[in-house]
Formats: sequence, C-alpha cells, structure tokens
Amino acid sequence: MQIPYHIEEILERLENSGYEAYIVGGCVRDNIMGLAPHDFDITTSALPCQTEQVFSDCRVIETGIKHGTVTVLYKGTSVEITTYRVDGTYSDSRRPDKVTFTKNIRDDLSRRDFTVNGIAYSPRRGITDPFGGMRDIKTGIIRCIGNADERFSEDALRILRALRFSSVLGFEIEENTANAVRRHKNDLDLVSRERVFSELTRLLCGKDVRRVLTDFSDVIAVIIPQLETTIGYDQHSKYHNSTLYEHTARAVEAAPAEPALRFAMLLHDVGKPACRSVGEDGEFHFYGHAEESAKIAEEVLRELKAPNTLRERVCDIIRHHDAPVDLSKKTIRKALSRHGFERFCDYMYAHMADDSAKAGFCLPRIETARQAVAIAEEINAETPCLTVKDLKISGRDLMEFIEPSPRMGKILSQLLSEVLEEKIANEKKALIKRAAEIVNSV
Ligand code: ATP
Ligand code: MG
Repeated sequence: MQIPYHIEEILERLENSGYEAYIVGGCVRDNIMGLAPHDFDITTSALPCQTEQVFSDCRVIETGIKHGTVTVLYKGTSVEITTYRVDGTYSDSRRPDKVTFTKNIRDDLSRRDFTVNGIAYSPRRGITDPFGGMRDIKTGIIRCIGNADERFSEDALRILRALRFSSVLGFEIEENTANAVRRHKNDLDLVSRERVFSELTRLLCGKDVRRVLTDFSDVIAVIIPQLETTIGYDQHSKYHNSTLYEHTARAVEAAPAEPALRFAMLLHDVGKPACRSVGEDGEFHFYGHAEESAKIAEEVLRELKAPNTLRERVCDIIRHHDAPVDLSKKTIRKALSRHGFERFCDYMYAHMADDSAKAGFCLPRIETARQAVAIAEEINAETPCLTVKDLKISGRDLMEFIEPSPRMGKILSQLLSEVLEEKIANEKKALIKRAAEIVNSV
C-alpha cells in the first residue's frame, strides 16, 4: 500500500493519542488496483472535537462537523478526517436525517455503498475488509454492501455511482445489485440535477462506457428521457449496422475521454427520430438532425444544470458533427479562422467517433478527419493569419485613408477574408494597396 508520508503521520498521531485511524474508501480501492489515488480520506474513532485537539497546532476547518468531518491543514495539504459513523434514517432518499458516531470500524464500513469502497487500511492495523471488497476488486465486481434494495432506497444517487464505478473501473455490476438498480431507477428523479450531472460525466468518461450505456439504457432514459426514442430505433440506413442508441453508445466510447466530447456524442443524434424522412428506396434520411440534436442537447444540459461553457461547446460540436470535411488547406484555414483551432479539432474528433460507430465501409472517413487535424496543426504552426488582429495592417495604418468609423472594421474584415481566400498576401504593402482600392471603389 502506497501512502504519502504526511498521511501516515496523521494516522500515527491519532493512534499515539489513543484513537484508531485508517485510510478508507476510494484511496484504498485504487491502491489495491495499482492506480494512483487522487485523495486520501481518513476515518477515526476520535470524535470531531478530539481530532481538533490532536491537531491543535494545525489549522482545522469544521467542514461537515454535523456529519463528523473536519479538514486538517497538515504540512501544506488539506486532509479530511471523519469520525466512524452510522447513518440514521433517510427520509428523502438523499441525505441521512442524522448520523450517529460509533466506536467500531465495521459499523462505519457497513454504511458505505459498495464492497470495493468498504475497505480500510492502516499501517499499524493492516486491512479491514468485512464485506469481501478485496475479492470483488480481484474479480472486478460492483456489489452493494448489505441489502441492495435498502441501500438504493436510502440514497438513489448510489444507482448512478454503481454505473459510474462500473464504467470507470471496468467492473461488472453483480446480478442482485443490477436488478435492484433497475427496480429503483425512477428514484433518480429525487436526486439533485447537479449530483446526477457530476456522476453522469464521470460515467461517460469511463473506459467501459459503451457496456454500461447499453446494459442500463433504461436507467439512462430516466435521467435523459429525450434519449428514450433512440433506444431500439432501427435507422434503415446503409450507413448503419446498429440501432440508433447502440450507435450512440459506440460513438461515445470512440471519442476522447473528455466531458464535452463524450456528452456531444451521447446527444449527437438524439434529434434523428424527429427529422426522419423515407426515400423512395425505403432508406431513412434525417435532414437537419444536427441542428435538431443541438436544440435537444441544449434542453438536456440545461435540465442537468451543466456549466454554460460546457453546454455551449457540446451544442456547437453537435451542430457541426456531420458537416463535410474538405482537405484543402485553404478551406481548413478558413474554418480555423471561423471556429478556432481547438473547436475545429473537436469537430474532427466527433467525426472520427461517429464514423467509427457506423458500417464498415465508412471507416476510411476516419482517416480523412485525422488528416484534417494534421493539416490544421500544420497551419497552426505557421503563425497563420486567422483573425483581424493577425493582419499585418492596423486601424492606425487605415487612418491614412479614412476616419475611424465602423466602416474601418468592415474593411479590415474584407481584407482578412481576401487573405484567407489567398487573393492577397498578408503583407503590409499589399494590404495598404488593397485597402486604398476598397476605399476608392465606393
Ligand atoms: P472517487 O473519489 O474516485 O470518486 P471514492 O470511492 O473515493 O471515489 P467518494 O465520493 O470520494 O468516492 O467517497 C468516498 C467514500 O465514501 C466512498 O469510497 C464510499 O465508501 C463512501 N461513499 C461516498 N458516497 C457514498 C454514498 N452515496 N453512499 C454510501 N457511501 C458513500
Ligand atoms: Mg474520493
């Protein structure tokens, strides 16, 4: 077990003051799996006020004192220390009405969600694993601690946490737990949208997202009802060899594991059923579906209270996800001028993910999008002229011909577009000459 030195010191200090102390939860799980934990949670038999006393020489913040948590600023890092507790009743399926402190580590572990999260470790006391978490990590299983139905009715967020851990860790959800997930899925309506959004984001960025989206499509449809019509939807199209929802799940997994791109792929075709038309040959067409999908995505992400910047980026990617890709340098330069380098690459990644989830003969198109990214990178490395600011002429130069006015801005925009069209070079002399022509032409 790899524990940072300062965490070991904190455990030691609590033990030397007569209390028990362990690291617990995600950091133990990740350690056993050989992953780098991102934070270390400590659990102790000391009451919050006793913890404060043990660390009276440090700054202590009473973060969640009611729930037994204090944050200690120890040697430059902040560490959460929580008193062993059992949760009281849950009247709202979300937060325990009150928590009770206990002296027994087993009781504390029993309130935790899954066996893989119910392991504690201390250098002095070794591993405490009363619910078989080590075994489930070895075999790759997400299993509720205790009775799954009870655990999900206490806190419905656990339903999504099960899916999230399954996707991120690549673990299967054990049958009893999976059945209880399905039985309780509608309780997800009780969970705050922010918490749903946060778990869904992590689920989408997991390595096994396709399996989880596919196996639990009914649960996904509870949090995003707009996806319901895509489930089982036959696209009647030569480009597709799977249903609309299966195509979606494949496209999500094929995209880089980044929230904006994964959300974009989740929703990129959600507008298809509403845009369907049938050709003479019986093939379905979905004209305008990118725009329609972007509109629905806007609604979905507003409902989920996603941050504005993410929502805007996702909708923009969706709007451009199936525009034709032209590999001429001039066209790509214009696209970069219009959308910016990052966004252009987003569109290309969306193209690649989309095409890799279609029928086999579409696969060569992935290469086209890849080449477009390579050309964009080339252009980017050449200190290109992509915005008015990059022009080798300024408003000051223009003042030789005209008074400062909105017209000046228009002239600069026209110069930029001619540079992008490769009609003139981005050189001061040529630009001044052309500016004079434009001014004199009206
Ligand atoms: P990560 O930090 O990677 O998200 P984690 O397992 O540490 O994973 P946290 O949300 O940080 O997850 O929670 C820490 C621990 O607290 C969990 O490992 C689990 O033991 C417990 N826990 C967290 N949320 C719940 C919950 N809703 N119900 C029951 N136990 C929970
Ligand atoms: Mg954690």
